[in-house]
Amino acid sequence: MCPRVIEKPGTARGPRPNLEDWARARADFRWESAKSQLDGLPAGRGLNIAHEAVDRHVLGGRGARIALRWLPKRGNRVDLSYADLMRRTNRFANALGQLDVREGDRVFALLGRTPELYVAALGALKHRAVFCPMFSAFGPEPVRQRMELGEARVLVTTAALYEKKVAHLRDSLPRLEHVLVVGEPAPAGTLSFRELTDRASPEYCIEPTSAEAPALLHFTSGTTGKPKGALHVHQAVLMHHMTGKLALDLHAEDLFWCTADPGWVTGTSYGIIAPLTNGATMLVDEAEFDAERWYRTLQDQKVTVWYTAPTAIRMLMKAGNELPKHFDLSRVRFAASVGEPLNPEAVIWGADTLGLPFHDNWWQTETGGIMIANYASMPIRPGSMGRPLPGIEAAVVRRTAGGVELIETPDEQGELALATGWPSMFRAYLNAPDRYAQCFVDGWYLSGDLVKKDADGYFWFVGRADDVIKTAGHLIGPFEVESVLVEHPAVAEAGVIGKPDPVAGELIKAFVALRPGFAWSDDLCSEILAHARRRLGPAVSPKEIAVTSDLPKTKSGKIMRRLLKARELGLPEGDLSTLEGGEQ
Ligand code: ATP
Ligand code: MG
Repeated sequence: MCPRVIEKPGTARGPRPNLEDWARARADFRWESAKSQLDGLPAGRGLNIAHEAVDRHVLGGRGARIALRWLPKRGNRVDLSYADLMRRTNRFANALGQLDVREGDRVFALLGRTPELYVAALGALKHRAVFCPMFSAFGPEPVRQRMELGEARVLVTTAALYEKKVAHLRDSLPRLEHVLVVGEPAPAGTLSFRELTDRASPEYCIEPTSAEAPALLHFTSGTTGKPKGALHVHQAVLMHHMTGKLALDLHAEDLFWCTADPGWVTGTSYGIIAPLTNGATMLVDEAEFDAERWYRTLQDQKVTVWYTAPTAIRMLMKAGNELPKHFDLSRVRFAASVGEPLNPEAVIWGADTLGLPFHDNWWQTETGGIMIANYASMPIRPGSMGRPLPGIEAAVVRRTAGGVELIETPDEQGELALATGWPSMFRAYLNAPDRYAQCFVDGWYLSGDLVKKDADGYFWFVGRADDVIKTAGHLIGPFEVESVLVEHPAVAEAGVIGKPDPVAGELIKAFVALRPGFAWSDDLCSEILAHARRRLGPAVSPKEIAVTSDLPKTKSGKIMRRLLKARELGLPEGDLSTLEGGEQ
């Protein structure tokens, strides 16, 4: 069983936290003064993400600091200073200019985590193109769909990815004019990234950029259905910067590792922009998850702030408690998690293994940046997502015929809503204006997630509105049930769905993956059912459990409950473009 509160979780090892007193920081907060932390383009020419991330540091005399530390799959690490990054992004921006790429044109990337991906992202932003990163493990169809919907004019990729996933689609993508290929030789119909950038000048002057100019296009994870394209503007940088500082406690001295791929919004907002605007060094690992490599990376690279996801944490837990003992993890001073509910068990495991708990935080592709967080200076209540950022008004609401109604009673369940107007709020769903409009009611953005707020203002995730189970008159969020299941020593992961039942409406069915060393048996099944009944009571506990070697997940690591349900009920599986282990 987990403790209810962990006091002063993130202050023991580090400098003074950037946010020392949550209540005071919220009371004192003004967007106008937050804006003054940004530089702005010289001579009042607007606001550009790439200037804030790169050029301002070089112009401010900090060009020699390491901006990007790259760990290739094999071989030695490569460091790029802020000055290197400025030159390389300038060259890329000039190369785009030479290709007649204009403001607002869409530049897509289909690349592994190599320096060129980061150069392309920041160079495209400098040139005021809209950058859209795609996860390199997508199959040809998801790649085609995204580029078609997003009207890609330029694609940056590798020869191997091009041949495998794009070459045969060129005819169906008439708007795709230029494909820039990293590595030699460039296949027919493509241009060499290196030749183009080598030829281009390392000097570039960013043209005036409106804070409202479109900057980034991100597709959602596809957990609940077909991925949506969310458009963000340059002004989002204010949120990236501020949340990097307050929620992730980034200081300029930090070696920061965000494990997400830039193909997902986390890997861009926090895997590129926030660490750079805060002047830190960001670590980029080209390789995929491997427990031993990850512990070695934390140790050898002296990572100080680490931002990862529940699935990765659960995989580390699955790898056992012996492995981390072989590594010195004492440099990590702040660890955070996002993307899915973080089971209390995982928070505590962090405290035991790393010597510090994971700080959960909540946000979405649509919000562009962290909205609710556990801060270094604030006691953690394991299982809670924390409290809203300064400048963010979050509420629990109920939809009514005429609008929304605020739920003021503590611990009562409702939909998480955010008062509109924060800088990184998405400005459109691509080609879906009606769907976009439906997200907003009475000045609130409705998130589609169900939560509770306790009497002290901590938010607790209940489940996605689509995943909530109605059984015998109760509304049950899968997270609560799953968190209890993973408390059992045999259970590594759990996914819970509602299964139609003539009497109860829905019955709770659980799918579990076991930890190494455990074998499935009737006895173990009964033991887990009994544990759940004891902890949750008979009404809320699962009636059936099935064992599975792995739960279906999105490529960004989220459990796809809709797929568990469709398979259980023999229904169509829906959009599988982001399914992990799908077409590579
Ligand atoms: P889609 O919208 O395509 O179904 P998605 O919602 O998974 O996919 P993302 O924008 O990547 O796409 O994820 C945001 C969602 O992830 C949130 O709405 C929430 O359901 C979940 N989430 C993120 N962080 C947390 C957290 N700390 N606790 C619980 N859930 C979280
Ligand atoms: Mg979503």
